[in-house]
Amino acid sequence: MKVPMTKRKKSEYRKSGKKSHHPEKKYSRQHQGRANRTDGKSKGKLKANDVRQRSQKTVTAEVTCSGLTDGGKGIVQWEGKQLEVANLLPGETAEVNISKKGRFFDIELERVIKSSEVRVNLPRSSYYKGVGCHIQHMNEHAQKRFKQKIIDELMKPFGKPEPIITMEFPFYYRNKNVMTFGLNKKRQIISGLYAENTHKIIPMERSIIHDQKADEIIQTIKGMMKSFKMQPYREDTGQGFLRHVLVRVGKVSGEIMVVLVVASPMFKGKNNFVKALRKAHPEITTLLMNVNKRNDSMILGNQEKVLFGKGTITDTLCGLKFDISAKSFYQINPVQTEKLYAKAIEMAELTGKETVVDAYCGIGTIGLIASQEAGKVIGVELNKDAVRDAIHNSKRNGVKNARFYQGDAGEFMVKMAARGEKADVVIMDPPRSGSDEAFLSSVVKLQPKRVVYVSCNPVTQARDLKYLVKNGYAVEGIQPVDMFPQTVHVEAVTKLVLKMPN
Ligand code: SAH
Repeated sequence: MKVPMTKRKKSEYRKSGKKSHHPEKKYSRQHQGRANRTDGKSKGKLKANDVRQRSQKTVTAEVTCSGLTDGGKGIVQWEGKQLEVANLLPGETAEVNISKKGRFFDIELERVIKSSEVRVNLPRSSYYKGVGCHIQHMNEHAQKRFKQKIIDELMKPFGKPEPIITMEFPFYYRNKNVMTFGLNKKRQIISGLYAENTHKIIPMERSIIHDQKADEIIQTIKGMMKSFKMQPYREDTGQGFLRHVLVRVGKVSGEIMVVLVVASPMFKGKNNFVKALRKAHPEITTLLMNVNKRNDSMILGNQEKVLFGKGTITDTLCGLKFDISAKSFYQINPVQTEKLYAKAIEMAELTGKETVVDAYCGIGTIGLIASQEAGKVIGVELNKDAVRDAIHNSKRNGVKNARFYQGDAGEFMVKMAARGEKADVVIMDPPRSGSDEAFLSSVVKLQPKRVVYVSCNPVTQARDLKYLVKNGYAVEGIQPVDMFPQTVHVEAVTKLVLKMPN
C-alpha cells in the first residue's frame, strides 16, 4: 500500500552536518523510502500507539535504527517486531508510516528526526524508490565500512580479506544504462527502472551512477516519441512498440551504442526517427533495433538489426581493445575493472609458460589480458555473441595463444578432465548464481596449481570456496574491489592454491 506523503515546510528537512564531495550539491531534502518487513510471521493487528493513526491501516511511528541489513536497509524494532526501513541509517531516529499488506508490513520513511553524520542528503530527482542505488544516502566511508563488513563476515572461514579497493570518483561510472518505457496513470510516456521484484516502472530521468550522456540520449528518445507517434509497449495489453532503450558507452573510446528494444519489427517512420535521433546526438556511433517478443524479464530478444554504424562499440581495457556487441556481458565499471583484473592477473602468478583456463570468459577480457603473460589460454563462455566477440577480440589484438569455446563452463571442464587435459591456472568469473558442482569437481580433478575466483556475489563465492577448500585447496588471498559504488553489491577476487597435488 502506498502511503500519501504529507506536505512539509522546508525547515522540516534537515541537513547532514558533514561535507561530501558528492556531485549533486544543491540538495536539502531528506528523501523518503519504503521497505518491507522481513520476518513476515506475525499476524497481529497494527496498533496506533506510537504516534498517531493515519488511516484505517496506516500508523505513523517513531523508530530508531539499530543496524543495517546486507541489503542496506535500516533495522528497527516496532511492537516487538524487527522491520527494515529503506534509507535509514544506524543511530538515526525517524518518523515512519507503517501499513499492513497481507502478511507483510510496508514501511515508508516519512522524516528523519535525528540524522546520522554519515548521511548524504540527495535531491529527490536522483533518488528512486528502492531501485538501484540502495546506499547512495551513505557517505563514502560508511559505504566502505558497510561492504567491508559484509565481505569480512562471509569470508571468515577462509581468512581476512584485504581492505576493499574503492573508487576515487564513485559517480557516473556505469557504461551501460537500460531504461524501460511505459505509460503512467495519466497516459503520459514514462521511462525508468522496474521497482524491485516487480514490473512496475519507477520513473527516473537520471542517476548518480549512470553515464550522463546515456541518460540524456534516453530522455531525448522519450521526448521524440510523441511526435513520431511511437507508443511505449504495455505489458498488460501487449500493445505498443518501444519496450526499453539500452545505451552502451565506450568510456575510453567515446563510442556510443544505442539499442531500441521493440515489441515488433514493424518500425513505422524508422528512417525519419533515426535521422532525428542522429541529428540530436551526433555522438551516437551505432544504433540497433532489437526485437523482443518475450514475456519474461529478459531485456533483449534474439532478433537484432543494425540501423546504422558497425553494430558494436570498441573500448580499451588494460591496454587492449575490445569490441562489444549488444548482448555480450561487459563489466559496467571499467575504472574499477582494471584494478580488479590487475589483482586477478597478479594472483595467477603467470610466468609465460602456464596453460590458463578463463572460465565464464564473456568477451574474453581476462583471458586476453592474461595471454600476454601465459603459455596459452582456453576460454569458455555460454553466450554465443560473447564468444564471437572474444574470438574477434583475440584477432584484433594479435593474440595467438588464446582459444575460445562456446558452452557451459561445467560441462566443458568435465570433458577437459575426462580427456586428461592439464591446466596450471583456472581463472573463473561466474555470474551471480556462482559456479556448480560439475565445474568445481572438474577443477578438483584437473588440479590446477592456482584458482583465481572473481565474483560479484560473495554469498555464492563463499559456498564455492567451501567446496574447493574441502577438496584440497587453500585460500591465500581475498581482495574486495568496489565495482558498484552507491549500491549494495560487493565484488571480490580470491586466490586459491593446491595444497597437495596427487
Ligand atoms: N569474465 C567476464 C564475464 C563475467 S560475467 C568479464 O569479466 O567480463 C559471467 C559470464 O558468465 C557472462 O558472460 C555469462 O554469459 C557467462 N555464463 C553464465 N552461465 C554460464 C555457464 N553455465 N557456462 C559458461 N558461461 C556462463
